[in-house]
Amino acid sequence: MSQDLLQKITALAKRRGIIFPNSEIYGGIGGFYDYGPVGVEMKNNLKRYWWKNMVDKRENVVGIDGTIITHPKVWEASGHVQGFSDEVVECKKCHQRFRPEDIQEKCPKCGSTEFTDSRKYNMLFKTEVGVVEGEKMDAYLRGEACQTIYLDFMNVVDSTRQQIPFGIAQIGKAFRNEVTPGKLTFRSREFEQWDLQFFVHPDDMEKWFEYWKEERMKFYKELYRKQENLRFYEHPQDKLVFYAKKAFDVEYLSPWGWAENEGIHWRSDYDLTQHSKFSGKELKYTDPKTGEKYIPWIVETSGGVDRTLLMLLFDAYEEEDLGDGNIRTVLKIHPEIAAYKAAVFPLVGNKEDISKKAREVFDLLSDKHKVVWDDRGNIGKRYRYQDEIGTPYCITIDYETLENNSVTVRDRDTMEQKRVNIEDLDSILS
Ligand code: ATP
Repeated sequence: MSQDLLQKITALAKRRGIIFPNSEIYGGIGGFYDYGPVGVEMKNNLKRYWWKNMVDKRENVVGIDGTIITHPKVWEASGHVQGFSDEVVECKKCHQRFRPEDIQEKCPKCGSTEFTDSRKYNMLFKTEVGVVEGEKMDAYLRGEACQTIYLDFMNVVDSTRQQIPFGIAQIGKAFRNEVTPGKLTFRSREFEQWDLQFFVHPDDMEKWFEYWKEERMKFYKELYRKQENLRFYEHPQDKLVFYAKKAFDVEYLSPWGWAENEGIHWRSDYDLTQHSKFSGKELKYTDPKTGEKYIPWIVETSGGVDRTLLMLLFDAYEEEDLGDGNIRTVLKIHPEIAAYKAAVFPLVGNKEDISKKAREVFDLLSDKHKVVWDDRGNIGKRYRYQDEIGTPYCITIDYETLENNSVTVRDRDTMEQKRVNIEDLDSILS
């Protein structure tokens, strides 16, 4: 895959309102991005898609929505205050900082070959809670979303009908002061994670780990078009944290090579034990049937929402040669993720009866489906615009519609046009 796909996607994302660099009028701020009118719809669809798959369709998973700032002790217990660090080297000539694995002998910025020794650099963002000087408390923006799940574990046990094995799911922001943010949203400093922490009896750990590993790959296979661009990366035994027996990443083949999309982690009883130690609260689960008391073990699946959306853009992007130097750019993105399911066009925007009829179609559909209106410019240009943002269908209302209630439906992927009755549009979109 060509390296310039990243440039093409970056340009398309900006041009069509998917992803904008944050604070652009001030020169931007590295590692922060906004989602535009099209991007926010895609991202919301993607989060809903995950939630449907991971929460709605499962009787043994419930969701929470935790805060970004927590008690600072959380990050001592989790090990982030001491150990959430990246290695950094600095170029002695241009003073740019890099992760050691990102330099190949020479500085990527100025070509110099002289660097400082590598040193550790903590990635947590610090802030303060409280208003009175002297009573302020240092706190952190969460470096990973999952910690709030551990904090709420007992509350969920006490407030729901769930029994182990069960999971707690969450989608939420995380913040990391990354040394080298870049590749659009792939490595950002503010991003969203989708996390499942699945609590099990230690004897069942192996079984549930394998179960979630397969489930998560299945999820990505249904989402992406190019199956051959998905694989597992198994972490080598000597690189595993002491409490893990195994770890796998779901990787996608990005323009710069295989890249992590999600991690499936064996966390044993580490997190709840740590929080129990630091808080002094017992975090044991009592089995209602056997009376056994134990700290549950955890299978974690933790992925990036922004990363997945970016990979989906790579996966969906096509340039099709229509002949005579005519290139069509199209995003063949999963219809559930597409910002709009259909675009509604009055063939001629200034003909009142056609516009009125088109409005009726828009109103009829917009109750149930996310549709978008466009009456600007010629139909060819409108098709091109919708292709670039991945809208699966374009519906055109014309003179014939006024006679027999039929409209033209044009398919994004095949460009085929069919005449259908207005009454059938709802079921086509469904
Ligand atoms: P990496 O090795 O790429 O830094 P990680 O192993 O530190 O990632 P985890 O802590 O396991 O990542 O976080 C889970 C998921 O969160 C990752 O698989 C990734 O999709 C996402 N993620 C992590 N860091 C970032 C970031 N800086 N920007 C965007 N997404 C991220």
